[in-house]
Amino acid sequence: MSVRNLTILGATGTIGVNTLDVVARHPDRFRVMALTGQNQIDKLAEQCRRFRPRYAVVLDADKARTLEQALAGNGTEVLHGVEALEFVSALPEVDSVMAAIVGAAGLRPALAAAKAGKRVLLANKETLVMAGRFFMQAVREHGATLLPIDSEHNAVFQSLPAGYTGDPTAHGVRRILLTASGGPFRGRAIETLKDITPEEAVAHPNWVMGRKISVDSATMMNKGLEVIEARWLFDARPEQIEVVIHPQSIIHSMVEYLDGSVLAQLSNPDMRTPIAHSLAYPERLEAGVNWLDLAKIGSLSFEAPDLRRFPCLGLAYQALAAGGAATAILNAANEEAVAAFLERRIPYLAIATTLDQILQKLAGEKADSLEDLLAADAAARQAARELIATAAVGTA
Ligand code: NDP
Ligand code: MG
Repeated sequence: MSVRNLTILGATGTIGVNTLDVVARHPDRFRVMALTGQNQIDKLAEQCRRFRPRYAVVLDADKARTLEQALAGNGTEVLHGVEALEFVSALPEVDSVMAAIVGAAGLRPALAAAKAGKRVLLANKETLVMAGRFFMQAVREHGATLLPIDSEHNAVFQSLPAGYTGDPTAHGVRRILLTASGGPFRGRAIETLKDITPEEAVAHPNWVMGRKISVDSATMMNKGLEVIEARWLFDARPEQIEVVIHPQSIIHSMVEYLDGSVLAQLSNPDMRTPIAHSLAYPERLEAGVNWLDLAKIGSLSFEAPDLRRFPCLGLAYQALAAGGAATAILNAANEEAVAAFLERRIPYLAIATTLDQILQKLAGEKADSLEDLLAADAAARQAARELIATAAVGTA
């Protein structure tokens, strides 16, 4: 493998930090060309001092000035704004772009990387949930290579036949089985779900992740977003994608073939495995993870998800079936509801009721272009904020 030049979008986040951990183990294989962050300026400055990228990007001009002062004489040029995120995603000398910004903000830079024909290492699932059709079209038209970082999709990718180009049946695939840990509330008494606090919701039993995705894992909206992500990544129909709860998070997902074979990818729950897989693909790299000790783990168990406990998963399938802008609306309303829950403006159960109401209200929005989807995203955010502000959200 020749040296790969990388841009890491969202370098200061959980995925970004894990990516730099793998990169640091192989200084002869990777060169960091650009790092981006948003609020954690000290951390971004420290990363820049260590990895010496050509560019560092933040959103705001103020933060860019602070970063510039911190990096004076370091040789890293500081840029700011969404256009700068797009610029470092499309640099001619960059081969691979790790798209690990959280939320809808990750869409434009990920799209810029796809349009520049890069190897796109996609962690930002919201890109596909918002604009899957347009993103996949950009990947095809511009000859980009798409490698999934989300552990489930990375497992599916590894379990699919080499050269898979979409159309599961044509490749002998019957179903994609996405595993889910069930999060922290899988066994909690249903009548106490109403009392869940942000601290309880972000304490995931198996994974260390950013706050937003941790809440999504608790509600299982994360798995709902992943069903939508799988629909686009693997060109599968919703009925070909099934979710199974597997609390140990050792099997990261499976592919079932027409002859009854089921192929799976197993590993300890450590994001450095899918990250290293995608960074090195099609080669393999040491990632610093602990080896899997199956005898110590003892048993792997499975159960069907309970949609009464996890209504968000059902809402995701509904939005997928509705098509059009529904999944973009779901995603935007979810970002608003999760932020409101984390700030204690709404109770836990109001996340799902907010999404349900916004989906019903806005389901008919157009989705003929990317602009339509961005407009649907904005309308859903506005409607969700109003609903949250007037506390008109039922929590029953
Ligand atoms: P974090 O919250 O830990 O990190 C998010 C990153 O995005 C940070 O670098 C943050 O900067 C930056 N950021 C936040 N908002 C903006 C914005 N508006 N514009 C530009 N940059 C921004 O998230 P994770 O690393 O956990 O997740 C990143 C993505 O990967 C998400 O889409 C998530 O769904 C997906 N993912 C994560 C997994 C995990 O294990 N963590 C697993 C599978 C998928 P700063 O911190 O400096 O403010
Ligand atoms: Mg996942």
